[in-house]
Amino acid sequence: MRNILVVISGPSGVGKGTLVDLLLAEDEGLVESVSCTTRAPRAGEQNGREYFFITESEFRDRIVANDFLEYDEHFGNFYGTPRSFVERQLREKSVLLEIDVVGALNAKRLMPARAVLIMVTPPSMEELTRRLSGRGSEGEEALRERLRRVRYELDQAHLYDYVVVNDDLQRAKREIQEIIRKEKEKEI
Ligand code: 5GP
Repeated sequence: MRNILVVISGPSGVGKGTLVDLLLAEDEGLVESVSCTTRAPRAGEQNGREYFFITESEFRDRIVANDFLEYDEHFGNFYGTPRSFVERQLREKSVLLEIDVVGALNAKRLMPARAVLIMVTPPSMEELTRRLSGRGSEGEEALRERLRRVRYELDQAHLYDYVVVNDDLQRAKREIQEIIRKEKEKEI
């Protein structure tokens, strides 16, 4: 069995985070990579758990030092996957990245044989709009911007190895577990 890089993307509000937590809790052979970001921590977030929160100048230094497997900018902030962590972990385990489309495609380009790209989608756009509006944590313009981004991300689904519809959390989880199992067994 080989260790793989499981890259999970999907629009915000699709339930990715919950799915990822379940996958990690049920598989000791899977670890999540914690990204670095220059955005400020949100309430309840802890440095080193959701992200490593670093300054923009530190981030730039690390780009120059080739410390990121991939990085990207969202909403004016930088996000990057630490290369050394991923490479070290892959010797022992499979590594899960929860990143956006651009990051996922970069990961695939850098590790074509190992990266398995999985897009999690909502059952419908209406359902996702409802979920996002229900959060009520942002203004209308921000919501419109998020929905634009969602459409863009879903338009990229054909570039992924697998598309998993999150119509039911447990079912979607089992589908991803099955994908991981099969991919680990592939001889490449
Ligand atoms: P948030 O600020 O809501 O936590 O994340 C914003 C976006 O950044 C999400 O689409 C998330 O998937 C993406 N993101 C988080 N970490 C990384 C990373 O390491 N690389 C890239 N390319 N995107 C990331």
